[in-house]
Amino acid sequence: MKKIRGRAWAVMALAGAVVLLMGLFLYLFFTRGGSWVSFPANGDAFISGRLRAGRVTDRNGETLYAIADGEGAYGGDELTRRALLHTLGDKNGNIGTGALYKYGDRILGWDPVNGVYDPRGDGGELVLSADARVCRAALQALDGRSGAVFLMNYVTGEVLCAVSSPTFDPEDPPNLAWDDTSGVYLNRALSVTYPPGSTFKLVTLAAAVERIDDIFDRDFTCAGSVEIGGGTVTCSKAHGNMKIEDAFANSCNCVFAALAVELGGDTLREYAARYGLLDRLQVGKSLTAAGRYDVAGPGTLDLGWSGAGQYNDLVCPAAMARLAAAIANGGLAPEMTDLRRDGDAPLTRIMEAETARLLGEMMDYAVAHTYGDKNFPGLDLRAKSGTAEVGADRPHAWFVGYNADPQAPYAFAVCVENAGSGASNAGPVARAILQAAAG
Ligand SMILES: [Zn+2]
Repeated sequence: MKKIRGRAWAVMALAGAVVLLMGLFLYLFFTRGGSWVSFPANGDAFISGRLRAGRVTDRNGETLYAIADGEGAYGGDELTRRALLHTLGDKNGNIGTGALYKYGDRILGWDPVNGVYDPRGDGGELVLSADARVCRAALQALDGRSGAVFLMNYVTGEVLCAVSSPTFDPEDPPNLAWDDTSGVYLNRALSVTYPPGSTFKLVTLAAAVERIDDIFDRDFTCAGSVEIGGGTVTCSKAHGNMKIEDAFANSCNCVFAALAVELGGDTLREYAARYGLLDRLQVGKSLTAAGRYDVAGPGTLDLGWSGAGQYNDLVCPAAMARLAAAIANGGLAPEMTDLRRDGDAPLTRIMEAETARLLGEMMDYAVAHTYGDKNFPGLDLRAKSGTAEVGADRPHAWFVGYNADPQAPYAFAVCVENAGSGASNAGPVARAILQAAAG
C-alpha cells in the first residue's frame, strides 16, 4: 500500500510538472511567439532573408518594403533605400536596429491562432514613425561623410530620422571582408557613443545653474588659456570678460573647465546620469548605447576637460537628442518610439522646469549670438554646437538642439565624424532635417 501511495504521488508530481510546463509554453507562445517566427532561418516567414508577406511604410504612407513578384523588396529610389537602411535592416539581418526583424511578426501578420498562415497572403502593415523625406535630407546633407543624424518629435516621442552613415543599398549589398572595420552595420544614431565635445556643456551649465547660487551675477574672464591641475585648458581665442550666458554662447573652455573643477566630478556624473546620458534608453524595441562619464580627481586637468565634454566623456546621439527634447518640454523627457504614435508621449521628469527654461533661453541666445538666426530661416532654433577632439584626426562636429515652434516641435542631435568645427559642419545638417520635417 505504501509503495502504491508513493507511486501515485510521483505520477501526480509528474502530471503537475507537465501542466506547469504546458502553461509556461502557452504563456511564452502567446507573449513571444511573434519573435519566434520572425527570424531569418524560418522558411515560413522568410525567403532568402526577406519577409515573404506584409508591407512597411513611413509615417506618410510611403512604401519602404513590400512584396513584389512574390518576394520582399525595398521600396523607393536608391537614396531612400540607403537613407533608411539602418531603420529597416538589411536582408541578412546584420543590422540589429532593423524594423524588418524587430517587428517581423507584425509585418507578417502573425497571430497566435493562425501563425503566419495568411489566407489572403498579404500579411500585415507596419507604419513606422520615420519620415522618408527627413531621412533623405539627412543623408544628402551628410554628403558622403560618416556620422549620425537623429530627429524626434518632442511632443509625441516619435523618431522621424535615425540615419547612419556609411550606409549601402540593401538591394545591392556590398561584399564586406570578414575583418571590415567600417561599422556599416551599426546604426550610429542609436548604437554608438562619441565624445560629446562642447555639447556636454549643457550638463555642466545645468549643474552650475542649480548648484552655484551667484552663477548669473558672476563676471568671468578668459585670457585664451587657464592653468588647471598642472596643465593648460585652451580656448580658440581669448574671450575676454563675460557673464555665464556669453561663456556658454562662446563655448568658453576656460570658464567651463573651472566650473567643472568647482562643481566636482561626482556632481557632474550625477547630472549626466539624471539626464539619461549614461543609460541604455528604449527607442521602440531597440536600446541605445550607454554613455560614459568618469569621475576624475579633484582639481585635475582631466576633471576640467570632462566638464567641456572631453577626457573620457562619451554620449549616444539619441540620448543627446532626448536631453534637448526634455529642455524643450520644460524638463520632461518623452518616451521615444520608432512606430507611428497617435497622441502625446508618456513623459518622465529628468530636469527641473526652471533649469530647462534657463537652458532654453541660453540656447536661444547662443543661436542669436554665435550661430546666426539667418542661417536657420523659418525656425525658432535653440542649440549648442560641439567640436569634439579625437586625437590626431579632425574633430567630430556636433549640433544639438530643438525648434521651439509648437507647429514643428522637433529635437535633434547631429554628429559628423572628423568633419571639423561643430556649427559650420553639423549645423547645416540640422537645418536640412528641420526644414524637411517642417515640410
Ligand atoms: Zn574662452
